[in-house]
Amino acid sequence: MNNETKKDIKNVVIEPGCITCGACEFTAPEVFKVTDICRVKTDVDFDAYKEKIREAARLCPVSVIKVKE
Ligand code: SF4
Repeated sequence: MNNETKKDIKNVVIEPGCITCGACEFTAPEVFKVTDICRVKTDVDFDAYKEKIREAARLCPVSVIKVKE
């Protein structure tokens, strides 16, 4: 586990430009919901899904998932 993986996540934001591909929901269904737009679910314990959230951000084809630490 590297340092980045250990850091706490304060917020997850989806910037404009999402193409609703569904990859983030596939990777972290506990955190992301993709319908006509992509949303971050409310009341999510981000720290419980750190690895999945970072993976989703990395895999987003248009790089609009921003992880705030
Ligand atoms: S992975 Fe990126 S482009 Fe795809 S639905 Fe999620 S935020 Fe949108």
